[in-house]
Parts: sequence; C-alpha cells; structure tokens
Amino acid sequence: MPELPEVEITARLLDGALAGARIGYARAPGINALKTFAPPLSALEGGRVAAVSRRGKHLIVEVEDAGDAGAPLVLLIHLMSAGRLQLYETAAGPRDRSSRLLVGLEDGRELRLREFGSKQAAWVKLLGADELERDDALATLGPEAWPQPGEPAELKALLDAPRPLHALLRDQHVIAGIGRSWVDEILWQARLSPYKRGADLDEDEARRLRDAVRETLGGALAHYEQAISLPIPDKLPMPLRIHRHQGEPCPRCGATLEAVHFEDYVIAYCPTCQTEGRVLKDRRLSRLLR
Ligand SMILES: [Zn+2]
Repeated sequence: MPELPEVEITARLLDGALAGARIGYARAPGINALKTFAPPLSALEGGRVAAVSRRGKHLIVEVEDAGDAGAPLVLLIHLMSAGRLQLYETAAGPRDRSSRLLVGLEDGRELRLREFGSKQAAWVKLLGADELERDDALATLGPEAWPQPGEPAELKALLDAPRPLHALLRDQHVIAGIGRSWVDEILWQARLSPYKRGADLDEDEARRLRDAVRETLGGALAHYEQAISLPIPDKLPMPLRIHRHQGEPCPRCGATLEAVHFEDYVIAYCPTCQTEGRVLKDRRLSRLLR
C-alpha cells in the first residue's frame, strides 16, 4: 500500500539513480496502464531523465530533450494499492505479467512499473511539462501532509468538516499523501478516535494531530532511508505498529488493539488510548455473531 513515505523514498532513490539517464525505449505491455494518447510513449525515446519527484501519492518523472520538438515531458504515475516503480540493472530480469510500463535506458537498465494482486488500477499519464499542474490528478490535491503539515490552526481549518477524522485524513482533496495504513498510526500517535469528527477538534487535539502527522510520516521515511535500496522491493517492510496489529497489545498501554472491518479496509485502534475505553462496533464481527 504505497502512501506518502513509500512514494517519497521511491522518488528519492530513483531521482539519485536516474538523473541524466537517456531513454532508449518506452512501452506499455499487456494491460495498458497508459491513460493518455498524445504524445505517444515513443516520444520519450532519446529523452533524458531530469528528475523524479513526488506529489501526494503520485510519482513524477521529468524528461528533457525528448522527441523532435524537445519540449519537456512528464510521466505522472499513480501506484494505487499494489504498484511499484522498480529500477533493474538489466532488461533481462523478472519481466512478467505484472509489468505495466517499461522504460529502457541506453545504459542497459530498465525502469518498470509493476503491479501485484488481481486489480489493475495503477496508471500512467504522459503529459507535456506545461500540462502537469493543470492535470486533474494534481490540481485537485489538498496541501501536502509532509514535511510541513502546517500550524495546528491550519490543520484544524483544513479538517473542519462533519466527517470522521479517519475519512478526512485519507481524502486526498483535503490533505495529500495519507492512506489506509498510516492513518491508523497517526490517529494512535495523536490519541484520537478514528470516528471523532474533524469539526469537533479542539486546539490541543489539533496540535497533537499535527505533531503525529509530521512524526509518523517522517519516522517512516527515516526508517526507509535505512532499510530500502533499489530496486524498491516487491514487499515493502512497512514499520507499522497499529494497522493490521489488531488482537496484539497496544505498544503504549498494553490494552488489546481492536479493529473495525470494512469491505476493502480495516481500521485498527487502541480503545484505551483513543476511544475512552469504548470498543467500536465492528459490523463484520456482529454479522458473523448474529
Ligand atoms: Zn493504548
């Protein structure tokens, strides 16, 4: 589940490894993840990778000197829930049915967008650099959650809606970069209920939440700086302590972590630290018990 820290470490490592590399070919094999038609992928051939960066949960690969016109191009990539952008030393590696985009470099290396699992959701857009900021995917993003999620009052204003914090923090239009995994860690760190409404945050809670966003995402990134090198592994070693740890003791107070199951995600939390001892109704569990 690549979220801000996972996408950021991918961008940092690829930026260091790819800057200046010249592109030999670009192809989207099999299921086409490419969502744009013009320019064609072949326009990248002969271009030079200028930089790799992150915006929200998106990766941006900037390419200079491409095509006849030489106008700068960008690959805008969303890994969705199971994508990886991996750089291999040769084009001979495990190129398989998971490959959605292949960018071969003249030095023999190959950059691959691969996607695991049954859903094909990861996507790529090839845009003129001047189109990037206008693209819906970026134009509708909220402010970045990291490195500076703002002052507590700014965060409070951002989240001032009658919706649960768990939903607000994952809404990329509200704040960009947080998803289903890190939201559990952030709310636990801030000692806030996933169901507390954003509009009900007081000043102290907003400060705790701001600190938790910064420390949790920054801590994850520091971990990846030590733990990860290229190619980005198929399975990321996410340093999660709460998410997917229901049934285990809370690392802070020792109470048993609880969970609420939804069709495609799970909220994990500590009743003692976050919900004043209340165990939230788990619809899946109550249905099974009925
Ligand atoms: Zn606890």
